[in-house]
Amino acid sequence: MNYYSIEWHTHTVHSDADQTVAQLLDTAAKSHYEILSISDHNTLSAYAEIAEKGLTTPVFLLHNSLEWTTFYGHLLVLGVREALNWYDAKPTEIDLWVKKNKEAGAVLGIAHPYELGSPICTGCHWDFLVRNWDNFDFIEILNGDSPQEQDYNQKAYTLWSELLRQGHHLAASCGRDWHRPKKETANVAVNYLGVEHLDEESIKASIRQGNFYITLGPKWELSLSSKEQPAIFMGATITQGTYHLAVKFQNQDDDFNRQFGETIKKIKLLQNEEVIAEFSRTAFGAELKTEVVLTPGPFRIEAWGAFKENPDQRLVISNPFYVE
Ligand SMILES: [Zn+2]
Ligand SMILES: [Zn+2]
Repeated sequence: MNYYSIEWHTHTVHSDADQTVAQLLDTAAKSHYEILSISDHNTLSAYAEIAEKGLTTPVFLLHNSLEWTTFYGHLLVLGVREALNWYDAKPTEIDLWVKKNKEAGAVLGIAHPYELGSPICTGCHWDFLVRNWDNFDFIEILNGDSPQEQDYNQKAYTLWSELLRQGHHLAASCGRDWHRPKKETANVAVNYLGVEHLDEESIKASIRQGNFYITLGPKWELSLSSKEQPAIFMGATITQGTYHLAVKFQNQDDDFNRQFGETIKKIKLLQNEEVIAEFSRTAFGAELKTEVVLTPGPFRIEAWGAFKENPDQRLVISNPFYVE
């Protein structure tokens, strides 16, 4: 299973961004993204431009995404067959519209749930009444440039964690919300998505499963296995019992935030959103290998370390394995 860098929250001049479609595609490829989707506000017209002009895509493109931009919240709708009309969506009916978008082939998630709303940014704050959180595929917990520095992202992380604690199956994502070139001093967060075959349906299936992790830079090889199952991927539902966990950080030349010189210091294992074990990098060295006894509830892994000015920063976040 290969893990590809993917960015699916991006904008062009087809909505409110400064960059043309060609500029975004080109910059994405130069910035080491391997998969890209364009998610303009309420329009798929960027894809029409690509088709009409026959634009070459130097990065693998997941077609037909958009950001459903409503008065009550922003919803990332990825890989949809046709754009549905957002203005029929009433504040209490989002579950219905999630279902309709899914029927139209989309994978979807909530964007920046705690960003300031009106009058700063109309509809940016999530105000829809959600009846079933499991209907969503993901929730964006790190949005924008230098997302770890934003208070509204901390709130999104807390909401995600609380939903996991309550037993929901929901992946966490990051999204650059890419409108224009970033400042030199700004860093990004990147999703790494596991896909066996690089095609659009596999990409969507993997996002749906939650087989991806978020990082501020470090890339890792994460492997969970048991006697019966040699390879278990994030998002899988597994039975309680003893598992073998291995985490190996990879050397990479495509490090997105290399200039900020992150240092990994420890790995934390979380079960039911409580830290059940902590391993120091100085103790495990190149690769952490350990047995874990898993009981029912979500199980996930985080790496912590120094980043920019912060000596104790959450650097990598896995999506959960769901233990029954
Ligand atoms: Zn938005
Ligand atoms: Zn956006």
